[in-house]
Amino acid sequence: MKVIDIIKSSDKPFASFELVPPLKGSDVNKLYNSIEPLLEFAPPFINITYHRDEIEYRPNADGSFEKSVITKRPGSVAIVAAIMKRFNIEVVPHLICGGNSKYKLENDLLDLNFLDVDNVVALRGDAVAGQKVFVPEPDGYTYASQLVAQINNMNKGIYLDDTLKDATPTNFCIGVAGYPEKHYEAPNSSTDIRNLRQKVDAGADYVITQMFFDNQKFYDFVTECRNAGIDVPIIPGLKPISTFKHIDMLPRTFHIDLPEELMYEIRKCKDNSEVYQVGIEWCTMQSKDLIKNGAPAIHYYTMGKADNITKILKQSF
Ligand code: FAD
Repeated sequence: MKVIDIIKSSDKPFASFELVPPLKGSDVNKLYNSIEPLLEFAPPFINITYHRDEIEYRPNADGSFEKSVITKRPGSVAIVAAIMKRFNIEVVPHLICGGNSKYKLENDLLDLNFLDVDNVVALRGDAVAGQKVFVPEPDGYTYASQLVAQINNMNKGIYLDDTLKDATPTNFCIGVAGYPEKHYEAPNSSTDIRNLRQKVDAGADYVITQMFFDNQKFYDFVTECRNAGIDVPIIPGLKPISTFKHIDMLPRTFHIDLPEELMYEIRKCKDNSEVYQVGIEWCTMQSKDLIKNGAPAIHYYTMGKADNITKILKQSF
């Protein structure tokens, strides 16, 4: 079922979850074990992230370095099929422009279509480590809106090879990313929201937001989106803080702020188990407030850890 139809037919807010495919060589059962406790909350879908190849410089015996392209989390399409088969649940794969040509993306989309996957989240992806700016592949895309347009074309039976006649249309519902605290590359939030509008105009059905820790930023973002003519559902994304390390890592990686009230509570913690508890309480408070204020759903960034999320859901939904 399409995410947009799930949202439209749902009479109360629901929770969805984002999971990460296993690292190469690790046991897929770890991923399954992190999904199982979440099933109690009947998520109508779960998202699976996409990870582009990374470049590493590995030392040789003579002291020189060799450049290696490393696929740390392979099998993006296969893991979607494996989860659907095992749990009989709707899976929403993420697809990124980074590292992919439009032809590769078309083939990945066809693989997903053959597997009866009705949903994708279309993203640009980040620059590879060591590159300051995002560089598209030859025959690739600079912005996610271009990928959205490609998927929208496939939904009309228009493939990249324009000699194809009567090509079978795909049937994808398309999600895109939104940033309540602005995407870090955008010169200002109005421009970023205008660029988000391009994704919606190109065919996106709904928006999922980057994590945020201050609900007012989400509410202001929704108001600005509506004022800019973006009328599709906007699903807030939340992540509970769980260790001291997150205080540095989350703002640096995701370009988001941690409110002073939250930092005040964390500063009082003696160890990570206390931070973990503060993270649960803060995220529960955010969840309850979002539900009270009419969020259609809440999307939780689990990072493969279900325990704190289940505690939050038990108190919030
Ligand atoms: P875009 O929408 O293309 O925007 C990127 C930047 O370009 C923005 O600053 C935007 O304002 C600007 N821009 C857009 N269009 C134009 C234009 N026409 N002219 C000028 N500027 C423009 N990354 C992964 O690698 N894998 C994942 O699975 C993944 N999942 C994610 C899920 C969610 C919900 C979110 C919020 C992010 C996710 N990301 C993922 C991270 C994402 O790839 C990065 O944030 C990336 O830097 C931007 O992706 P985007 O799709 O928002 O890009």
